[in-house]
Amino acid sequence: MTRGSCLCGAVVFEIDGETTEIGMCHCSKCRKVSGVASNATLMTSSDNLRWVSGEDHIMKYAMADGWGAWRCTTCGSPLPKLHGGGGAYWVPAGVLDDDPGVRIAGHIFVGSKAAWDEVGGNGPRLSKGFGSKPAD
Ligand SMILES: [Zn+2]
Ligand SMILES: [Zn+2]
Repeated sequence: MTRGSCLCGAVVFEIDGETTEIGMCHCSKCRKVSGVASNATLMTSSDNLRWVSGEDHIMKYAMADGWGAWRCTTCGSPLPKLHGGGGAYWVPAGVLDDDPGVRIAGHIFVGSKAAWDEVGGNGPRLSKGFGSKPAD
């Protein structure tokens, strides 16, 4: 069981079941929603995630194409968001309180990283999503 929560503690969730490994996404949208160079994210089936408290404290923002972010209405922390058709949650790994047991599988959308971003670690650096060509 892996627990996660927002900064103010109003929203708490837990994940019971398998997750993907962590992808570090350097795309411009992830930079906007996280405020940092790359967004650490993982995915899990929607059946695996349960809101423990604060589900009524979630602000759901979506762009015209459906991409977006869910946040705590009090503190603004990013929170797990239902992905695509709703079968899976996209989870910002930074809000997890426990070690999810998975590690960074690679850096994605390095082709659109910020000019000042220095990509660290040994994971593969891909131009777009997982399965795309290496960056550079
Ligand atoms: Zn909060
Ligand atoms: Zn991204």
